[in-house]
Amino acid sequence: MELERLCSLLEDMEVEGWWPSNGPFEVMVGALLTQQTTWEKVVPVLEALRREGLMAPLPLSQCPADRLTELVRPIGFLHQKVRRLQALSLYVMEEHGGDPRGMLQGDLSRRRKELLSLPGIGPETADSILLFAGGRPKFVAANYVLRVFHRTGVLLDGDYASAQHLVEERFPEDTGLYMRLYASLVEVAKSHCRSVPRCQGCPLRPECRFTHRAGAGPGCRPAGRRGYPGSEG
Ligand code: SF4
Repeated sequence: MELERLCSLLEDMEVEGWWPSNGPFEVMVGALLTQQTTWEKVVPVLEALRREGLMAPLPLSQCPADRLTELVRPIGFLHQKVRRLQALSLYVMEEHGGDPRGMLQGDLSRRRKELLSLPGIGPETADSILLFAGGRPKFVAANYVLRVFHRTGVLLDGDYASAQHLVEERFPEDTGLYMRLYASLVEVAKSHCRSVPRCQGCPLRPECRFTHRAGAGPGCRPAGRRGYPGSEG
């Protein structure tokens, strides 16, 4: 299936407001917390951080580690998550005067490199932050995306970089499309294109090579992991 065709088959999916947040810093925090866990577990932690007045770089950077550990406890990976949140909030304070929005503007590849230099931020998390927090044109080629691309034949053997390149080359600088496409693909992967696919009702089914080739039965190798919206570990 061609990428353009996949996009048109996903056109009717309801994904408006798919990554709910109260601003760019909250998206950054959410992107870090959702690594290695599910979005459902992250939501109450985001609410607790908000309730405690910690959803901003300054208070978060000043929050004692033991208090932060208590708040993050429901997610697990305590020390790792706490260290990463502290590093992020300190960085925004020290290098960008506490302005997360400003941190994401300017030269895109420089901003990406900057994010990648922070603890626990790999390409998927960096691109999620750039796209959903900064509104920057960076497509997130997460494992969910790769799984659907592989099975539908949009990209048979591609990795993160090649999937990202494909989308960005075909639809240059189209931030809105990157957001909608990513959200739609994650939803399809969660609802239908799971490790063992449930093709019934999948919007891509009419033209999916995997369904036609293998009858949606065994033989598909899973590419995805837990997580939503991002799942990078
Ligand atoms: S039809 Fe089946 S294999 Fe193809 S994308 Fe949908 S769930 Fe995945």
